[in-house]
Amino acid sequence: MTGSSAAHGPEFDGASLPAPELKPLTLDTTLKIALGPARATALRKAFAMETVGDLLSHYPRDYADREVLRPLNQVTPGANITVIADIVSVRERRMSSKPGTIVEVVISDGGGEFTLTFFGKKSQQWRLDQLRPGLRGSFSGKVGRYQGQSQLANPAYKTFESEEEEARDDPSVRLRHKPLIPIYAATASETSWSLQTMIDLVLRRMDTLPDPVPDDLRAEHGLLTHTEAIRWIHSPDNPAEWMAAQNTLRFTEAWVLQCALMQRHSLARERRTRPRVPTPGGYLERFDAALPFVLTVDQEICAVEIAGDMSQSGPMNRLLQGEVGSGKTVVALRAMLAVADSGGQTALLAPTEVLAGQHLRSITTLLGPDLAAELMPTLLTGKLPVAQKRKALLRTVSGQSRIVIGTHALLSDTVTFFDLGLIVIDEQHRFGVEQRETLRLKGAEPPHVLVMTATPIPRTIAMTVFGDLDVSTIRILPAGRQGITSIVVPLADHPDWFQRIWTKLAEELALGRQGFVVCPAISPAEVEEDAELAPASEDDKKTPLANVETVHERLRGFAPLAGYRIEALHGRMTSEEKDRIMQSFAAGEIDVLVATTVIEVGVDVPNASAMVVLDAERFGVSQLHQLRGRVGRGGVPGLCLLVTNSRTGSPSRQRIGDVAATLDGFRLAELDLALRREGNVLGDMQSGEGTSLRFLRVAEDGDLIAEARQAAFHLVSGDPGIHTNPALRDAIARRLNESERTWLVKG
Ligand code: ADP
Ligand code: MG
Repeated sequence: MTGSSAAHGPEFDGASLPAPELKPLTLDTTLKIALGPARATALRKAFAMETVGDLLSHYPRDYADREVLRPLNQVTPGANITVIADIVSVRERRMSSKPGTIVEVVISDGGGEFTLTFFGKKSQQWRLDQLRPGLRGSFSGKVGRYQGQSQLANPAYKTFESEEEEARDDPSVRLRHKPLIPIYAATASETSWSLQTMIDLVLRRMDTLPDPVPDDLRAEHGLLTHTEAIRWIHSPDNPAEWMAAQNTLRFTEAWVLQCALMQRHSLARERRTRPRVPTPGGYLERFDAALPFVLTVDQEICAVEIAGDMSQSGPMNRLLQGEVGSGKTVVALRAMLAVADSGGQTALLAPTEVLAGQHLRSITTLLGPDLAAELMPTLLTGKLPVAQKRKALLRTVSGQSRIVIGTHALLSDTVTFFDLGLIVIDEQHRFGVEQRETLRLKGAEPPHVLVMTATPIPRTIAMTVFGDLDVSTIRILPAGRQGITSIVVPLADHPDWFQRIWTKLAEELALGRQGFVVCPAISPAEVEEDAELAPASEDDKKTPLANVETVHERLRGFAPLAGYRIEALHGRMTSEEKDRIMQSFAAGEIDVLVATTVIEVGVDVPNASAMVVLDAERFGVSQLHQLRGRVGRGGVPGLCLLVTNSRTGSPSRQRIGDVAATLDGFRLAELDLALRREGNVLGDMQSGEGTSLRFLRVAEDGDLIAEARQAAFHLVSGDPGIHTNPALRDAIARRLNESERTWLVKG
């Protein structure tokens, strides 16, 4: 440490570092070797970092211009901040309530002033000596409030004593002369400042980094070398440098991700399994001959793609997407029949028991009595009575049942298949990847896998989250659908329309139909866990959230609905209760369900025609669309009332209008992605597979991802093991480690 600079508190202190090693650092060098055991332990605790690569991929989340640091008067309470400012005044006073002293330091950055408070048990003269008015320093801590004022209590700090202290080796001196200061995600013990200092130190001893992006690709996209990119992202001299670095790292991220997915895809393909093809005059032919309708063009195409996969000796890994009612089940069933023709069985996994039961009913109906008797579709769930379960297990192990339908209970060790040829998973994102793996191991040979989803998946999400699967899409619905009419009910403009909603609902019920009333909350105090509510605007916050308990109670006492059976359904109920309510609604014993978003997925009650969504502005675009898909499923036209207090012209009102204006789920999914931009979307779809994208924005970078995917395809198809590019192979391995690390920190 140079004599003129002073470091205090838990700050990083260059002087306590181990003597620099001569060997340059690589990404795999442990932090223990690079920075010493104390620092390594601290970084492991704070961020689960182990290696130099981990530290260097802790990218700045922002940059502060040294001359115009974030104005001090605009910092937000609760934030961990690092500021560089001048000390304006210092005073010490006794605490009034208990023994001890408070040192209050006022700092200024020219734009605003801010108070630092240090509490001490006795006099803090030493601190007064360090923090003299006129000195400049860096101050890190969490913004709190004290007696109505924002302040930093007991911040870590480091003062710069003289502008001349140019000791080149002291990073603390050199760094503070850089025009841009990187701001890192920090914790109370690891401040942005200490991270910057450590990263700088590591960078100076860093060897040239190997490049995961091949030269030709780098030239084509005008990218920096990896070494430059890493240096500039952490230590830019001007904004152009960090932007160039971000561009390079953004492409690199897309590239590594796509290569990883392509590799996974190609390795899965390399596994050997038995092709499953229909036999002439077999089950599939008989089914097709008896089918009372013709397949839509999209269904036809998907069927061909699936049959093509299953005729190969490598297992199918395909995602079949199409909206509710688009005819996925028929397409999947045809695949099951091809498997049955080859002597094999299919396991159909549904996310809930109710949906498993529903699948059994619709498949049995589709098969017709003869095929159903021969193929014996069987329900196998945890809740079956013992005798029935034993029978189902027996049919499964003997191979008598060619189609076994259940929830994840199908994964339990007690279930053995005679010859499992195909796994169909309904609604992928409710199923973990590991569960899918477990089921794969059930067959003697790896079974073919078909994942069905009714949530339209935007192109970029499909490429990133499901990038290891082939995708088939059904866009058009079978003709003859009655459709759904969606109407926005803007209560802000027409408060009196509130009564009319219920009169309208009563009219539908009078026709012998059923309805849903959807609320964002369970009770006045409890929001439904499942509902990822849109943030409330200031306007929206004025009224309390519509909730199931209150609405249920009110509707029961409401004259036009007198005599109708109205029940509540929400996520706080046990699954038995939920199933019971859902089943009696399906059986027509309940007229109106007042519910939260628990009714969102897969519920099929053809007689339900009306849906009222209260506080519609609190639901996302896709969620509204999914909810709406619960009505108008049978021969009766659907009616969806999107009730909102949002004002005309507000963004949330606009969003609801967009949903009302189209039934095209794919368009709405793209819109949703553009609105939500990132984050949640990926999180939802990932089912626990922590993909942490730093620079890529799935909403904006679609073209870039597609280009990277194309290039990845070329590379991996020529070199599945990626032996020609060790740097890329390492980057893929590191990426996997990194997702694990993200989970560690989250947990
Ligand atoms: P999904 O599984 O995508 O929700 P289903 O396969 O359950 O859709 O189909 C919904 C309904 O439409 C079912 O009653 C099915 O028999 C019927 N259906 C499927 N495909 C067609 C078609 N091409 N023409 C007419 N009706 C169809
Ligand atoms: Mg279905």
